[in-house]
Parts: sequence; structure tokens; C-alpha cells
Amino acid sequence: MSKIRHVLGISGGKDSAALAIYVKTKYPELELDFYSSDTGKELDETYQLIQNLEVYLGIKINILKAAENSSEDPFDHFLKMYGGFLPSSNSRWCTKKLKLDPFEKYVGSDPVVSYVGIRGDEEREGYISTKKNIQSIFPFRKNIWSEDVVAKILSNSNIGMIEDYAKNIDFGRFQDKALQIVSKKIDTSFTQAHKLKALLDTDVKGFNHLVFEFLKTTDYPLASEKSFPLLDNEDVLVRDDIFRILKESGVGVPAYYNKIDFEINGKTGQYARSRSGCYFCFFQQKIEWVWLYEQHPDLYKKAMEYEKDGYNWVQGESLEDLINPERMAKIKTEYIKRMERKASKNQSPYLIDILDEEEGIGCASCFI
Ligand code: SF4
Repeated sequence: MSKIRHVLGISGGKDSAALAIYVKTKYPELELDFYSSDTGKELDETYQLIQNLEVYLGIKINILKAAENSSEDPFDHFLKMYGGFLPSSNSRWCTKKLKLDPFEKYVGSDPVVSYVGIRGDEEREGYISTKKNIQSIFPFRKNIWSEDVVAKILSNSNIGMIEDYAKNIDFGRFQDKALQIVSKKIDTSFTQAHKLKALLDTDVKGFNHLVFEFLKTTDYPLASEKSFPLLDNEDVLVRDDIFRILKESGVGVPAYYNKIDFEINGKTGQYARSRSGCYFCFFQQKIEWVWLYEQHPDLYKKAMEYEKDGYNWVQGESLEDLINPERMAKIKTEYIKRMERKASKNQSPYLIDILDEEEGIGCASCFI
């Protein structure tokens, strides 16, 4: 019986939902705890997705609520505490208070492996807890390990120890090459990223087993495990795989990702929402605010009601000004122009969807 807890957070976005399906189906031997941090301000589609996952996987998703004894929604409770000061990308009190703190409370001091749905086609790093008892694992990536673990195992000061471990690890036909790479020092011309890529390119399983051996010398949660099934995982899952998993399972893609046509001055564009999270999230692009206004006017109105005493969701512009017809037409026109510029740069016959590119920007705790 495992001494550690395995937890997987559902943000309401497509990637964490697909991760839940992927890990639960591929590794039924892992006893997974599922959780979702509810800000009280999510879109209906998020609550629907949670229900669909519970039914499909036959699981219970623990709903974590910050300020659970408050009579108000978690977001409203903390907004009051902050004197009406709306969160922004420079002051993201909401992520800390509504997502990270409840998660760390839920975990307590238990040793925990936390599965995170950053995809193989993304560059960003996921949330890495500062708490030593929480270790993040990224099953969709070729490199399943977090940055802090990689930095330690590849550090020049550990080369001797890693060389000794590597001699007993099976790197298949790349045994000699793997040993050479392990012995090579990191410097400005051979960075940590180069070394990591070189080792992963020799043999992913070999690298994973090497890391696992190294972890035994540390106090990371996996140090106490005799085995870990993901060591032999060589899958790399990208955006299309995520949509495929959600569609094939019947859980479905949250409806806010569906692209809707709009027309402006004789031209056609498509808009949608690019990520999960609070309906008023300040990470939205202006075209997404227009989508919210046109597709969910009731939520837009509620978002407007939060704008008081000079606090706005969008820097330098109130939501009231943003829905001035001329302003909305300008936002739509500029968005179509950006799409066209992108498409011509890539010489693609299709319009590149800027929303898809933007999805990695923002908060990994809210949008994965
Ligand atoms: S979705 Fe946006 S507004 Fe909501 S908690 Fe996350 S960062 Fe804050």
C-alpha cells in the first residue's frame, strides 16, 4: 500500500479534465484523490464538466472552498477583505486565496504527488508548491519531472553520484551515449535544458528510472516509493489529443471552447473563450470580453457591477466603455486583422486562432 497520496486537480479546463481520464484509465492501480477549487464564480460549463467526469469515471471530486464558513462566495468574501481591490495580473490575490491556500490545506502535511496537465506542446511550467511534501508530476510531457527536480539531478555537483546510478540503469541501445551525457558538465554552451533534452532523446524510460533512483537520496514524496508506474510512460500528449480524449470518452469539451462566427464590416471572424476560471477573469483578452457580453450578457453585467471606486478588470478601460458599439466593432476588426496577419506569416490557408495561442498565458492553477 502506497504511503503517499496521489492528487489530481480539476480546474474546469480541458487539459486537467483529459488528464483525469488519462491517468485514471491508464493507471487504475493509483489511488487518486480528485479535487477542484471553487471560486464561486466559475462558468456553468465548469460545473457541468465536473459532473460529467464524476459520472464517467465513477469518482467523487472533492470541492475545495476557501473561507468555507463564510456566507458569501469565496471570491466575494476575500474581495471584501481586500477593500474592493480587484485582482489583476500584477496582484493575483485571488489565485493564492482561492486556489493555492485551499489546496495546501487539503493536502496538509501528507506526502503528496500532484498530477498536473501541462501538455507536451506547451512551454510553461506548472505550479510547483513551495511545500516540500508536494511533488508535481506532468504525465502529458516527455519530461514528467518538475523543474526543481531536474535542476538537482543535472547539477554539476551531483555528476559523480548520477554517474554511479546511470551505470545500473538500462538506456537500451544508447547506454554509452547516456553515460557520456550524464558526465558532461553544464556550462553556457551546454545548458541544463540541452542536457535534459539530450538525455530524454536517448531513452525516456532510462532517464525516468535514473531520476527515480536519485529521488531516493532526497526527501521528495516519491523517495519512499518502491515503484512508480509513470516511469515507463513515453506518451507525449498535445492539444489535439486532449480534444480527442474528451470527445471519445463522452465527457465532452466544455461548451465555451466552441468557436462562434461573428461578422463585422463584411468580414467574418470566430470567437470563443480560451480558458476556464472565473467569468470575469482579468486574463481575458478584449475579444473574450466581447464574447462574454454577446453570449452571456447576464455574466457581463455582473462583472460590470464589480467595477467600483476606480477599480477595473481591464487596464485603462471600464467594461461599460468596452461595450460601446464603436469600441466593440474596433475590437472585432482588430482581432480579425491579427488573425489574418498571423495566417499570412505562417503562409497557412487557414486563419490561425490567436485565442488558442494565448491559452498558456495566465494562471496554471486556474486554467489547465
Ligand atoms: S480565474 Fe482569474 S480571477 Fe479567477 S482565481 Fe484564477 S486568476 Fe483569479
